[in-house]
Amino acid sequence: MFPLTLGITDPAKDARPPLVFHNTLTRKKERFSPVKDDHVRMYNCGPTVYDFAHIGNLRSYVFADILRRTLHLNGYKVMQVINITDVGHLASDADDGDDKMTLALKREGKPLTLEAMREVANTYTEAFLEDLTALNIKHPSALPRASEHIRADIALIETLIQKEYAYRTASGVYFDTVRFKGYGKLGGIDIEKLKEGARVAVNEEKRSQSDFALWKRNDDLGWDSPWGRGFPGWHIECSAMAMEYLGKEIDIHTGGVDHIGTHHNNEIAQSEAATGKPFSRFWLHNAHVLMEGTKVSKSLGNTVKLRQLKEHGFHPLSYRYWLLTGHYRRQMNFSFNALEGAQTALRRLQRTFAEEFGGARGGRVSEAYALRFLEAMNNDMDTPKALAILWDLVKDAEVAKADKRATLLHFDRVLGLGLKDLAQSRESRVAVDIRREEVDDLPDPIRALVDERERARQEKEWQRADDLRKELTEQGYHLEDTPTGPKVTRV
Ligand code: AMP
Ligand code: ZN
Repeated sequence: MFPLTLGITDPAKDARPPLVFHNTLTRKKERFSPVKDDHVRMYNCGPTVYDFAHIGNLRSYVFADILRRTLHLNGYKVMQVINITDVGHLASDADDGDDKMTLALKREGKPLTLEAMREVANTYTEAFLEDLTALNIKHPSALPRASEHIRADIALIETLIQKEYAYRTASGVYFDTVRFKGYGKLGGIDIEKLKEGARVAVNEEKRSQSDFALWKRNDDLGWDSPWGRGFPGWHIECSAMAMEYLGKEIDIHTGGVDHIGTHHNNEIAQSEAATGKPFSRFWLHNAHVLMEGTKVSKSLGNTVKLRQLKEHGFHPLSYRYWLLTGHYRRQMNFSFNALEGAQTALRRLQRTFAEEFGGARGGRVSEAYALRFLEAMNNDMDTPKALAILWDLVKDAEVAKADKRATLLHFDRVLGLGLKDLAQSRESRVAVDIRREEVDDLPDPIRALVDERERARQEKEWQRADDLRKELTEQGYHLEDTPTGPKVTRV
């Protein structure tokens, strides 16, 4: 619960700034309230675990984390589900071609078996969870795996066939988009145009080109179903898992903007056709991260993973900070220069917090700043503004140090920039000094290597920086980049 007089239990709650989100469904900002009491049920479309997530993908989960923390700030309880897509996601939005998991098996030279698929999925699910932890993203209430919900998919498809929203073909089962009134309502997809555009690649089996696969037959691999062995479609998995964990009517559904046109419209069509109820009241979508102005794409070879940022000497929280400098509905252009700026700002924040305010305990949260912060966050999660308010506070000579510390910790419950950890760690008071001492205690040649590596990193000589880190490892030293600088320990 919000600890101040601004909390939801406060008698003066009408004075609180309303919580407003941009809803893709209505294409405007709307006041948010959950279907039931103060309990929010939220589904965030999860990763396809066929490879490491790239930093663009991770924006979706930093965004979902900020959303969950904002809901908490407003006194709501949140049931949050992020699914793990470990089967069925086709490489394109069309219904043909390989799915991404099969492509991963081929790429890694593994046999085409469900067991091998599970192995691949386990590897990348674990890596995804590590990325979430590194980015200070709270783990959700549930992380259902698509492969463990095949029966729910089959049951949902059976309902759709029974209600005549789905039809069988030689290759599986398709959803009949023409029968579902209002198909394409999310994002204002022009269904007529879609049909025209699809003339090029006509699939004879479909009644209409916008129809999509609910079940894909595959005689060699997959699960048994009334329609033969095979796989569920990617869209049906999300509908089935969302409804199983959160019920027929949910409050919020999220994903990247690329999901609006096909994946989310298909989820709406299947779910609403089956239940006759509105599926999700709010649909929120994060804009993409571009790489030096270009789309992130495997074929362009410009994907960057979180672990690569670490290798280049960036702390993962610097990436989180950088994301928060842009509004989630704005495209952001990633570059190492921009990230360097974010890292410098985060370092300054953490240092100031530890060095200047570290000893100032027992303060109170400044109500004036808390209100400004709440106003920014409640206005469709305006994180750039929230960060500006944070820096205003840091510089404000009128606020006592202890109160600044308390207020920064209050902000950090939403922003998640590691201040809470600094405050809790025993070494927090002098976190920065301790790290400096560790480096100072090093033998001269080792210190010279660390300094040279830091210089190379700052100059963006990545290869040289990597080589120097390897040399340090060979000499028996482990170098870790932290927001407050390099930390060196003996292995
Ligand atoms: P996927 O693993 O492909 O299902 O994608 C995981 C999430 O990342 C989805 O919510 C996508 O919409 C989102 N996404 C994909 N590319 C980007 C990008 N460049 N920037 C931000 N989000 C992205
Ligand atoms: Zn989904």
